[in-house]
Amino acid sequence: MSHTLQSVLDAVSHTASQGTLPVVVFDLDSTLFSTRPRNLRILREFAATVPEHKVLQTIVPTLVPDDFAWDVTLPLTQRGLNDAALFKDLAAYWFERFFTDEYVLADTPTLGSVAYAQAVHDRGGFVYYLTGRDVHGMAQGTVAALTNHRFPFWCGRTSLHLKPSFDTDDTEYKREALADIRSHRGNVVATFENEPKNANMFRAAFPQGAHFLLQTEHSPDPETPHADIVEIPDFRLG
Ligand SMILES: [Mg+2]
Repeated sequence: MSHTLQSVLDAVSHTASQGTLPVVVFDLDSTLFSTRPRNLRILREFAATVPEHKVLQTIVPTLVPDDFAWDVTLPLTQRGLNDAALFKDLAAYWFERFFTDEYVLADTPTLGSVAYAQAVHDRGGFVYYLTGRDVHGMAQGTVAALTNHRFPFWCGRTSLHLKPSFDTDDTEYKREALADIRSHRGNVVATFENEPKNANMFRAAFPQGAHFLLQTEHSPDPETPHADIVEIPDFRLG
């Protein structure tokens, strides 16, 4: 039987009723949150700095969050704009803003994600937020985003684990985080990720759990997700 969002909630209830802590691990970017509005905001602000670029000025007002995926230039190239000098400036502008407290506030919750995380918590689950956002540049914005959108927080049985250094490789950092997840001595009932490589790692680490991959976006050159990993578009229970 393959796992579903509902079967995870049932497993959380069952595990808690047995006196064991059910742990559910959630990634943030492109998992609980959509980063597309963040990319749109950055591109809009960048466009305002180059008013003389008429093609960009024509395209940007037509864009909506779902035009974006991994690379902020995608909606531009899809509309026929290929300007290497402009893209170099955009990349620098983007890099200075994307990984900051202020700009993460533009993100919106993935459909159903707030209610789902709350349901996990309500049933006795430990909500473990594990994100590659770095603690120095993004901690305050991340707490504000979680609480503004009413994800479980400040209410016990939650943890927010951020990357200690911006330069650490995300998967390496998440591999090291496995020890912290295990230190709670519960059962990892489920994990949610948008990066196939991380989902595969969680599956190998917690073979008794259910492992989900969000069909949002992921970094280039992805691993093939293991056949056991369940792919979902969002967190709606259906
Ligand atoms: Mg992610």
